[in-house]
Amino acid sequence: MKVDSAKICLIFREMADFLSIKGENPFRVRAYERTAETLEHLPGDLEELHRGGRLADIPGIGKGMLEKIDTILNTGRLPAHEKLKAEIPEGVRELLFIPEIGPKTVKLLHGTAKVANISDLEQFVKSGKLRDLPGMGAKTEENILRGIRLYRTSRARILLGKALPIVEEIVAELKNKASTWIERISPAGSLRRGKETIGDIDILVSSANSHPIMDAFVQLSPVEEVLAKGETKSSILTRQGLQMDLRVVLPDSFGAALQYFTGSKPHNINLRERAIKRGLKINEYGVFTQSGEKLGGKEEEEVYNLLDLPLIPPELREDRGEVEVAEAGKLPKLLENPEIKGDLHVHTQASDGTASIEDLIEKAKEKGYEYIAICDHSSSLRIGGGLSEKMLLAQIREIRNINCHLTDFQLLAGSEVDIKKDGSLDYPDDILKQLDIVVAALHTGFKQDEKTITDRVVKALQNPFVRIFAHPTGRLLGEREPYAIDLDKVLEVAKDKGIWLEINAQPQRLDLTDVWVMEAKKRGVKLAINTDAHNLQGLDLMTFGVVTARRGWLESSDVINTVPLEDLLKNLR
Ligand SMILES: [Zn+2]
Ligand SMILES: [Zn+2]
Repeated sequence: MKVDSAKICLIFREMADFLSIKGENPFRVRAYERTAETLEHLPGDLEELHRGGRLADIPGIGKGMLEKIDTILNTGRLPAHEKLKAEIPEGVRELLFIPEIGPKTVKLLHGTAKVANISDLEQFVKSGKLRDLPGMGAKTEENILRGIRLYRTSRARILLGKALPIVEEIVAELKNKASTWIERISPAGSLRRGKETIGDIDILVSSANSHPIMDAFVQLSPVEEVLAKGETKSSILTRQGLQMDLRVVLPDSFGAALQYFTGSKPHNINLRERAIKRGLKINEYGVFTQSGEKLGGKEEEEVYNLLDLPLIPPELREDRGEVEVAEAGKLPKLLENPEIKGDLHVHTQASDGTASIEDLIEKAKEKGYEYIAICDHSSSLRIGGGLSEKMLLAQIREIRNINCHLTDFQLLAGSEVDIKKDGSLDYPDDILKQLDIVVAALHTGFKQDEKTITDRVVKALQNPFVRIFAHPTGRLLGEREPYAIDLDKVLEVAKDKGIWLEINAQPQRLDLTDVWVMEAKKRGVKLAINTDAHNLQGLDLMTFGVVTARRGWLESSDVINTVPLEDLLKNLR
């Protein structure tokens, strides 16, 4: 059986947590933590390294741990882990999912205060009893309550960036195993609309024979549990904890079903009302007359056309005026991936990235780019490995040198310059002016009030060298709420100063959000879609930024990094 390394890391992490909750020897706890850390950063495939006997050479994995890895690889389980897991009630284990709470706090809460689950915890904090425990105060109370809120909103949903690869894997395997029977296959639901987080996943297949497809579906390798198996619909739970529903429909209903199950609900209600006004009925099987005659449903486009509309792209189906705009023939020509010509916010090993400049160039060229901007962190950002002035000047020289040898591609010397507490920038102007592009960003002081944060940003954006304001709200989905910032005001200043706002393509950020992207476009503010890549694969995240841009109705002319190099340089001068 194939056990993926993420699962093994999870087992070791949980072992550390569970032992710590039980108050076991801290050295034992630490041994599991170290092993998990090491496994998370292996120079290759875990299973291959193990089979080749090379795992023993890697520091941080002791002999006892090697045996445990062997057991998990061979059986998919670790008995000691299952035993501990059974000893600690599920509600107590769940406390670990609250961002502010570690195993030591769980031990304290459970052992001393008899808190047995998240609801208990919430009551306990609200009753003011938490602050009587050692090391707890008003600040902790606030943080824990916020953590509970975040956990509750994120639990049922998974990031688009996590869901998409899982779905692609499943679709590919299903296509492979049931190719004879599958006519067409497509994801539907919020995934197809490109929402930033996804609940359950819907996959739609058209076929005249559902049995062999359902048989194959419930036996796919990512299946952890089969929740239901039926003729037209089956549901599974993947080993990543994601529920996935497969529906098989007849080919002449595929378009109608795809439309119906893609949603959104408000968009579909809008369409249904349109149908009624035209004396028609619309459902997942097709479009019908009142007397029940079927007018269409094989293609999604037919459904829209029968309602006197052009096909509306899935990303727009949020009931934000798309039906009216479609009716008027004014749908935007949405941005497409190949229109992106470069990436204006990329990190290297010089700060907290792992890729070399050379590797980044090669990968960017493969993607058909004409330019990337190297934007490592600035000096005061210690945790981000910020560059001192001297290091930055050396990097600028290095970039100019490399550019001498490049044809049809150019590196831009840039920096992700920290906006300091007083709104000043982290390098003096005589350094900034030597850069091709300055990306300003907030990384500290997230708890300041709205006026303080907005004033800081507004002051920074007045600096004549700043061109991009990165990840404007600082949110991390499921982990950190946006800081308090008056985006209205920021847009006003951005428009005035010709600043480009970033759509940060990291799946956990997607910042700006679709709704604010729409607003920026309305105000005539241009966007830059950047990956903020910290490794080579990071450059591939661009697609999530493009999806967000599409959900914000952007066309290529709204996005600065769709222009060719020459025009970009003109813009930067
Ligand atoms: Zn940043
Ligand atoms: Zn960055």
